Amino acid sequence: MAIDATQPYDDSNIFAKILRGEIPSTKVYDDEWAYAFEDINPQADIHTLVIPKGQYVSWDDFSARASDAEIGGFIRAVGTVARAKGLVEPGYRLLANIGQNGGQEVPHLHVHIFGGHHLGPMLVK
Ligand code: 5GP
Repeated sequence: MAIDATQPYDDSNIFAKILRGEIPSTKVYDDEWAYAFEDINPQADIHTLVIPKGQYVSWDDFSARASDAEIGGFIRAVGTVARAKGLVEPGYRLLANIGQNGGQEVPHLHVHIFGGHHLGPMLVK
């Protein structure tokens, strides 16, 4: 069920629980600004999620309210994870779903990193 990206942040969402260590995740990367972990239902050979440490519902919320330091830290973390996974040379894909039309299911901003093979067409209608 896709979420409304204009809703206020709800800290009972599953990624908030992962950040607090209340439910387990397979950690890939952790720093002051971001946490990365493996997607529980991978859609590619490599499917890693990167989330900001701050409480932001979506890319829209993050880009409107986050500080420059939070934005810089998060963007750098996404790049660091992709490099650490060896994805730069073969290439990879980033995806952030926002709200209903984007099909966003978890109301804490996350960027999907996909890689490990040719990923096919960008969108399937
Ligand atoms: P969205 O559709 O919101 O962009 O993507 C949510 C992603 O979170 C999905 O790819 C889904 O498989 C993943 N996901 C949902 N619940 C969990 C969980 O409890 N643990 C992990 N590691 N991934 C989850």
